Amino acid sequence: MSDEDREIQDRARAFVDDELIPWEEHAEMHDGQIPADVRQRHHERAIELGLFAMNMPKELGGTGMTMFQQALVSEQIGRVTNALGWCVHTPPAWAPAVVSPFQLERWIVPTIRGDVHECYAITEEGAGSDVDAIAATARRDGDDYVLNGTKMHVTSFNSAGYCFFQGKIVDGPNAGAHAMFFVDKDTPGVRLVREPRYTHTYPDTHAIVAFEDVRVPASHLIGAEGDGMSFTYEWFRYERLMIAARCCGAAERLIDEATAFATERVQFGQPIIGFQAIGHMLADSLTELWAARLMTYRLAQEIDEGVDVKIQHAHCSMAKLYASEMAGRVADRAVQIFGGRGYMRENVAERFYRELRVDRIWEGTSEIQRSIVADQLRKRGVRALA
Ligand SMILES: Cc1cc2nc3c(=O)[nH]c(=O)nc-3n(C[C@H](O)[C@H](O)[C@H](O)COP(=O)(O)OP(=O)(O)OC[C@H]3O[C@@H](n4cnc5c(N)ncnc54)[C@H](O)[C@@H]3O)c2cc1C
Repeated sequence: MSDEDREIQDRARAFVDDELIPWEEHAEMHDGQIPADVRQRHHERAIELGLFAMNMPKELGGTGMTMFQQALVSEQIGRVTNALGWCVHTPPAWAPAVVSPFQLERWIVPTIRGDVHECYAITEEGAGSDVDAIAATARRDGDDYVLNGTKMHVTSFNSAGYCFFQGKIVDGPNAGAHAMFFVDKDTPGVRLVREPRYTHTYPDTHAIVAFEDVRVPASHLIGAEGDGMSFTYEWFRYERLMIAARCCGAAERLIDEATAFATERVQFGQPIIGFQAIGHMLADSLTELWAARLMTYRLAQEIDEGVDVKIQHAHCSMAKLYASEMAGRVADRAVQIFGGRGYMRENVAERFYRELRVDRIWEGTSEIQRSIVADQLRKRGVRALA
């Protein structure tokens, strides 16, 4: 780590410790909500501290951090529950390179400034892991496209100003190809179907949203017809690395808290950390955290070094797979070490036990990550990948 890397890490860590963690329990007990003025302060502080839009180029108003620095920040954000860390927002990193000047000004720059939020409308009832199975359509009609489809799990739809909508082109030479569009949430035909409840206690919902004859000008198409999937893959790679980083942060917090508890908690006349059963759970957790952290840091540095994108693709899957499963095991052990207290919602281990579960599902399930890794192994061999 350079001095600058370390300073960024310290800055993110202090923000999490001093301003976010103190609100976790309140958020948990209030349906994920914290007072509006506190949420606004978190948002402003994230911008002041240069943590907001850290993945965006400086010339567009971002802070232009290296991938390694972004992983360091995400790791710290992973130490806090209840999505309080989402105030450190990372707008779509893939966008500046591919959007038109109009789209940049209209959606991306305001997102980097923190004036508006995006959400992703890709998954559907019949298309989850198999994104190619989407039934949503985009039909060209004069200067417009007409979009139809029902999307589910649309994260942050309640706080977003616009969606990235993915659909398949109907008719013409590109029929069946994927295309991605900017769709403002208030466009006629965009309808909230419902907001189901999920395992975690977050303020952001994961909505089911219907797009019914939604008419958008052709200027809302991102890139060309047929480009839709490539943006999704790039987003997946980025998010998989950042999930790995956040899982490392969560595991660190859990090990810290469980160690502190085990050191103080006395049963049978001695601190429980003296019982081999407890010590071994902590030892396993620490060892696995170290492994996951080394993978994650190395992957981030490798992206900064410009390693072949196919190798990055495999390594993003490996890091996400290992770190998310590691964090799940660490959370499970932490609950066990806290005993009955670990089952209380006011306990950090209980919250992480629920919250970390989704990291094995979203941005590609563990099974899909394993399939990607196995496929890459077949194509490139062990030495290229490990
Ligand atoms: C909280 C949350 C937020 C989300 N946010 C968004 C969002 O903002 N935007 C969005 O578009 N989507 C979002 N998603 C959707 C998410 O990406 C999908 O849930 C995920 O890709 C898995 O799809 P699925 O749930 O349909 O499961 P399925 O694909 O139906 O999988 C079911 C099971 O079958 C397994 N399986 C499927 N295919 C294979 C295979 N080839 N080999 C082996 N096993 C297989 C899976 O691993 C899984 O265990 C979100 C999901 C959640 C839970």
